[in-house]
Amino acid sequence: DKAKVDFSVKPHKMSHVKKVIGVVSGKGGVGKSLVTSLLTVTMSKKGYKCGILDADITGPSIPKAFGIKDKAMASAQGMLPVCSSSGIPIMSINLILENDTDPVVWRGPVIANTVKQFWSDVIWGDLDYLFIDMPPGTGDVPLTVFQSLPVDGIIVVTSPQELVSMIVEKAVKMAELMKVPVLGLVENMSYFKCPDNGKSYQIFGESHIDEVADYHNLKVLARIPIDPSLAEACDKGFIEEFEGSCMDEAAGVLEEM
Ligand code: ADP
Repeated sequence: DKAKVDFSVKPHKMSHVKKVIGVVSGKGGVGKSLVTSLLTVTMSKKGYKCGILDADITGPSIPKAFGIKDKAMASAQGMLPVCSSSGIPIMSINLILENDTDPVVWRGPVIANTVKQFWSDVIWGDLDYLFIDMPPGTGDVPLTVFQSLPVDGIIVVTSPQELVSMIVEKAVKMAELMKVPVLGLVENMSYFKCPDNGKSYQIFGESHIDEVADYHNLKVLARIPIDPSLAEACDKGFIEEFEGSCMDEAAGVLEEM
């Protein structure tokens, strides 16, 4: 039986979003939020109007990556996202909770409902791309979130430490179930380029991403190195200042959608 998108969840009447892109991973900590942020920043620098819906309710890290200090506010018409310094609208549970450090211990259905409201009650305005930082994994919670949002395509983030073939397989199956195309794979923490000798080292072992991509007939959209300046940008709120070309190929695929 096919899972279906719950079309009862309509976008806010003041939202006109052309493409919704889900960013998924097999588990937490592989860099899903970093990839979501970099994709958004890259597309935004190309002149597209982009926003981020942080659906990673139990581990929200988007506001931190963009250095957002303000809280989201409600207007008479609906919820207003918080805009980053370069004008990217963002909605995240951390922009609503009084204390960023409050743990969210909600169960699946409550999480899914919150994400639905981030779609239906938030005034996103006119966007070319809305990127969704999905809950990690391919279990019940990400599936329910998937079913409540009109996702146009997904990008799968992996790292060489993982059993990549299994994760990609699960993500591909979930996408098939939802009848959503997998736009491609991103390998994070692929290698480390030594600043002293310029050589690249595969810290987490040899990558299998190409074999897995070939097997599923998917593209590898990016290979992101382990880069302390990237970690710093992400963890200190300067992700918008990151200059790099690692997302150019992924951006090309998004432009062709
Ligand atoms: P996820 O969203 O998958 O849980 P994050 O994007 O929050 O993962 O990344 C987890 C941590 O790893 C963050 O502290 C981030 O700065 C760091 N990190 C992610 N990718 C890289 C990278 N390529 N180089 C250095 N640090 C990274």
